[in-house]
Amino acid sequence: TRSTRPQRLLNAVRKHATRGDPQSVISAIDHFCRHSEWAMNIGDEKGSILDSVVSELNPEKVLELGTYCGYSTVRIARLLPPGARLITLEFNADYAAIARQVIAWAGLEDRVQLVEGASEDWIPRMKEHFGIETFDFVFLDHWKDRYLPDTKLMEDCGLLRKGTVLLADNVICPGVPDYLQYVRNSLSYKSCYFKSHLEYTKAEDGLEKSVFLG
Ligand code: SAM
Ligand code: MG
Repeated sequence: TRSTRPQRLLNAVRKHATRGDPQSVISAIDHFCRHSEWAMNIGDEKGSILDSVVSELNPEKVLELGTYCGYSTVRIARLLPPGARLITLEFNADYAAIARQVIAWAGLEDRVQLVEGASEDWIPRMKEHFGIETFDFVFLDHWKDRYLPDTKLMEDCGLLRKGTVLLADNVICPGVPDYLQYVRNSLSYKSCYFKSHLEYTKAEDGLEKSVFLG
């Protein structure tokens, strides 16, 4: 049987990246996606914006919605302070299996908890199951119709505190108009747009950073 794209992406990591070196894992995936096969990672250009938001925040409790092959997981986890924790949710078991190996290749498995399942099922269980009080940083990059309902769910579950930063990918392409309308108009958020391009292309896309004001 033919291999899948995530399997070929993992093979590129094994072939070109150094074990325990997250930057080499990121570079190997970006090279594969620019020169061999496009894939839905945040990519290098928007990835550097993600890096600066994470570095500035220095978050200890991080939630990522949508792991795919673990590219953004590796990007975020490599910048976290010691003792910090990143929980990443992925409902596709095949993608999760690849992501575990990518994260392990980068040597970051001790900081990352990859949870297999749907965001709408796991968000309400974060407190009881993982002992999370609130998140410092949430990266939204799963299916676009879930950004708004999952944000409201995180609010209702008390997972956001004054100062929690939400960073949403692909707010232009494919786009999340209902989410943007909400965070830009709600008095509970201070929101701003970072213009960039869709991963590995020249099409406009960007990230929306929204600080929860309580
Ligand atoms: N964040 C990744 C990166 O930049 O490297 C890319 C994530 S990809 C765009 C979106 C992923 O979210 C897919 O792997 C999909 O299976 C997963 N997903 C979509 N909706 C989900 C949900 N409701 N719960 C959990 N995972 C979901
Ligand atoms: Mg994305």
